[in-house]
Order: sequence, then C-alpha cells, then structure tokens
Amino acid sequence: MSDVAYLGILVGIIAVIALVTVPALLRKRCRKCNVRNSLDARVCRECGAAFPDDDASGAA
Ligand SMILES: [Zn+2]
Repeated sequence: MSDVAYLGILVGIIAVIALVTVPALLRKRCRKCNVRNSLDARVCRECGAAFPDDDASGAA
C-alpha cells in the first residue's frame, strides 16, 4: 500500500514540476521588455521588438 502512495506522490511532484517548467521553456522572453511571447511569435507583443529566427541551434 505504501508503495502505491509513494509512487503517487512521486508522479504528483513530477507533474507539478513539469507544469511549472514546460510553459516557461515554451516561451521566449523579449530582450527589451522581458515580456514572454509564444514560440512562433516573430515580434514582441508588448514592444514590437523583432526576435531572431533561430536561437542557438544551427538547424536550417
Ligand atoms: Zn518586448
């Protein structure tokens, strides 16, 4: 019984961490005003600053 409870707690903690972390990773932050924009945004929704197309990955 305690094994199931332990697993449930572990999964719950992992789920909470994922829920907190993933949205932040899926957003890019404006360098000018620090507002978070969606990944496919070309310009900042707050100040209109342009985002570079690719960050660090050299994918064509
Ligand atoms: Zn901005």
